[in-house]
Amino acid sequence: MSSPPAPPPSGTVADVLAQAPPAEHSPTLIDDVRADIDEGLARALHGWDRPGPTLRITKRRAEVTERCPAQLLADADGVELSAPIVLGHLLDAAMSVLSMSVAAPYTSSWFHELARTVSVGDDEIARFLNRLDGPAESDLRNRTETRAAGLKSVLGDITALPSVAQDSIAVPFDTADVVLTGRIDLSIAAERRALVEVKSGKMHRSLYAELDHYALIDGLRNRRPADLVIGITLDPEPIVHSFPIDAAMVQRAAARVVRAAERLRAVDEAVLGQRWPPTSPGGHCSWCPLADRCPDISDVDRAAAEDRTWADAAEDGEELEPW
Ligand code: SF4
Repeated sequence: MSSPPAPPPSGTVADVLAQAPPAEHSPTLIDDVRADIDEGLARALHGWDRPGPTLRITKRRAEVTERCPAQLLADADGVELSAPIVLGHLLDAAMSVLSMSVAAPYTSSWFHELARTVSVGDDEIARFLNRLDGPAESDLRNRTETRAAGLKSVLGDITALPSVAQDSIAVPFDTADVVLTGRIDLSIAAERRALVEVKSGKMHRSLYAELDHYALIDGLRNRRPADLVIGITLDPEPIVHSFPIDAAMVQRAAARVVRAAERLRAVDEAVLGQRWPPTSPGGHCSWCPLADRCPDISDVDRAAAEDRTWADAAEDGEELEPW
């Protein structure tokens, strides 16, 4: 599905919230969408001899299965920490700090303070950061300093607004034994309710799908949609992209959830049958962790994957989230 056209970026998040009109939703929108998902999941999962407990459809699984179902195998291999992933964690921490204090104490070294914050709760990140040295450390430090300062500049003063950083949501669908999950960087419950996601790279089509997913799961949790979703991209400069939540956004995400269930089943059945799962080759093959073993990748994309660096992915605004 093509991405909706982006509206012109505007102001700070505080400005956007102050100016946004209230969203007008049909009172039955969420109930209707829930019924559509129930029906779609029943169809997609009928007759599947499922392994394990409740099927979790995370934001990430919805996104990966949409791009290329076989990429789920990479997740099964485990996520190897990398500088882009750690940068994402550092910026998530920056978002938490800035939502509580606009006069953040980290003006001298964001990197030092954020690294300390994220290391406290995550030994793996702590070890990764301790091992970093030389140009790699300096690169991550510079990226963190510029992007955290950029994030501060485009948030504006939102400290007086009620908000939840790293807002984890889980919405059960009991009949299908499925749960939809996601974690929103920042949920703001002001006069206008907004769901905010920050990205260290450029605007990318995957961000539209993430924002749709958040609109859906938050709407299901609260039994009514929020007013708007906001994506903040920090490269090459900080920009706020805001979108009023409408029925089409929520319905798109619901349809994606049902497709994800179908594709998760297809991957599971392929693996059990010792077949390579269904694929959807494309430009994303050039940064796929399975590029060296996938039978469906083109020679061109395989060669591109071998040459690709972290900086390329970051510059292209591609995935900087964990696999
Ligand atoms: S290399 Fe391409 S087709 Fe193969 S699993 Fe990765 S993204 Fe899919």
